[in-house]
Amino acid sequence: MQCLRLKLYTPTGIFKNSLSIKGIEVYPLPPYSTIIGLIYKAMGGKWEGESFQISLQGDYEAIYRDYVWFRKYNFKDKVLGKLPLQVPILHNLRLLIHIKAEEKLLEEMEKAIKEPKELLFLSGGEYPVKVEEVKIVQCEEKEIPEEDAIKLKHNAYVPRRILEKVSVDKKSVLFSLSYFYKNSQKPKTYSWIDVYYFQKGTQIYGSLIFDEDGNPVFLTESVGEELKRPEGEEYVKFYAGNWLMASACVGVLKVLKAQGQNVENLVEEKTLRIPKDLWEKLPEIYPDYLLKDKEEVLKAFYEKSKDKTNFNPYNVLILPNLGDFHNNSPFTNQSHKYIKELKGMYSLEKVKTSFLEAYEKFLSITKNTSSTCFFCHERQAKNFVDATSFTPLFASPDTLRNFIWDPMPICKECEFLLYFTSVGFYKSNGKYLFVYIPDDLLETYRLNQILSTQEEIEQEKLGRAWSVIKHVLELEKQKSSWILENIYFVEIEKVGDATANIYSFHISPNLAEAIRQLIDKYPKNLQRIFSDFLFYIYTGRSLYEFLFLLLSGFIKKESYKNLKVGTIESRIVQAGKNLKYLSSNLLFFINFQEVLNMNEQKDYTNWAFWAGKELKALYKKDPSTQKKLEPLTYRLLEAIRRKDKDYFIQNLIRAYLEVEKEIPYLFKEALNDKNFNMIAYAFLIGLNSEEERGKKDENNKGETSESA
Ligand SMILES: [Zn+2]
Repeated sequence: MQCLRLKLYTPTGIFKNSLSIKGIEVYPLPPYSTIIGLIYKAMGGKWEGESFQISLQGDYEAIYRDYVWFRKYNFKDKVLGKLPLQVPILHNLRLLIHIKAEEKLLEEMEKAIKEPKELLFLSGGEYPVKVEEVKIVQCEEKEIPEEDAIKLKHNAYVPRRILEKVSVDKKSVLFSLSYFYKNSQKPKTYSWIDVYYFQKGTQIYGSLIFDEDGNPVFLTESVGEELKRPEGEEYVKFYAGNWLMASACVGVLKVLKAQGQNVENLVEEKTLRIPKDLWEKLPEIYPDYLLKDKEEVLKAFYEKSKDKTNFNPYNVLILPNLGDFHNNSPFTNQSHKYIKELKGMYSLEKVKTSFLEAYEKFLSITKNTSSTCFFCHERQAKNFVDATSFTPLFASPDTLRNFIWDPMPICKECEFLLYFTSVGFYKSNGKYLFVYIPDDLLETYRLNQILSTQEEIEQEKLGRAWSVIKHVLELEKQKSSWILENIYFVEIEKVGDATANIYSFHISPNLAEAIRQLIDKYPKNLQRIFSDFLFYIYTGRSLYEFLFLLLSGFIKKESYKNLKVGTIESRIVQAGKNLKYLSSNLLFFINFQEVLNMNEQKDYTNWAFWAGKELKALYKKDPSTQKKLEPLTYRLLEAIRRKDKDYFIQNLIRAYLEVEKEIPYLFKEALNDKNFNMIAYAFLIGLNSEEERGKKDENNKGETSESA
């Protein structure tokens, strides 16, 4: 058989779906639709039912996480809101593509890509695509025995059908990818395809197709043939293909678990399958869950309320659960009769009745659309997603419009499911947290259960998120590295009625390494700001910034006399203020950061700490130099703040002259950008350190001593 082979190169590529906000759920290779779109763009036409098959492989050098601007226009106030979003960008991406079709179409494509009608880009990339090869090649199917198994030279998408005929030795990742446009008018409707992603180096054998240069080819089913998912008459199915839907699925699972269901049976890979009869009971099960054991709460609120005629049980019991995520919806909008009429009542049962009426109202809200649902890719859409579906992310089409989303069609089942995100996220101190593992819904559910049911004691000690991190690290043995790098924490912080900040963080391999090596050495006397420390490392902020705040608090106690503690920064400064003395346990932050920086020369830390300590001892011998210690500390802190290496070294030279010593030779390393922070901070900590009472200084003296 003949195939057209393309080799493409681009310096940068970002491949995401419409819900990839905050860089979550990105693909390691472009989805098929992106490549098919590129080919048709080169031909200057649209797909008109031609049939062909495609194989997609590729490789990238590195993933960068960079910021792009996300814009949201507020029509009411006429302001353009901008938000920096972190997105993973594939660097130096090379693609190997094979297309099988009739000879005439292959020739058309070949010609078009050699002389494209438009400049070709891969979606999200800043640079045009470089076409490195276009060639018609001969391909044939071969049977590869186990002992001759081949090693994949590229990362590859392998359609499910091919996996029936081959064996592999590594874990794969299931992706549901957009395949081709069924129609090109807006809103665009895709056909979707399930494929397994294998990383290069995977061993594979069995019945395989190879091109004339020995490259394996993993062709999809023909474009244009309707790809049918197996019918599931007795189930209502949901697809947790993005973090939002995953949080809704987790919410439903939590509710069903509380009701005594065996939830493990309802999940398969990324799919949630709810038996039809159970689904029909869900509108009743949900309020039962929300109202369970709430008699006391209701009573307490009722007794506290000053104006009993205005007391509304619905607002006490349902609104706090759904209000933040489903602002203005049939379940929360105060102007609906079924909510208003509960005013002045004291009844749990009436709240449930109103909830069921809200559900009826919800069902009645539909819009005309002929599209398939964006979320399940299966059922007929009946509405478009708006602010009521998930307020932190979406906008109401009348007041706010955003620039990156086309209207997103949704079916009523998926729309109702989104109301369970409120249960899926874990709420604490006005913030919501969710952990997302892209390839495994059941594991995602389990981790989020840990998040919400951790015992309070553990929370005091380490923080809930921490206990989840421990579990995430344990997943290393079972997951492919692509998945490990794409496990995310989503944090939502409400800042207004209909606005919220969405943060996300993931655990990079370096961070996992630093946690494993060092976390046990976290200073016990700084337990209070442990969660602030976690925030720094999740969000990739430098621990030197953290240390700067801590040392500023300690050194300049006086200037922070009136500090109000409301922000992360002020909490860290306050913790520094509270320190009675500095000790070598603070070197933890330096060591941690240096593991993150992959700096091998960590032994400077201890050396610089002890150099600082020795200089202090020399200063303290003489009353005339003793009082110069504080101004020296101030100047060094200032040099660190300004990142001014010369000023730092000048001050050191003078300081050593003061006690008639020569500056130790190793300080020349501080002039190296890579080492400056490490040496400067460690020295400053040493210069201000005191040993705990009962410990003898002499025991720890010397350049090579282990820190206490
Ligand atoms: Zn749907």
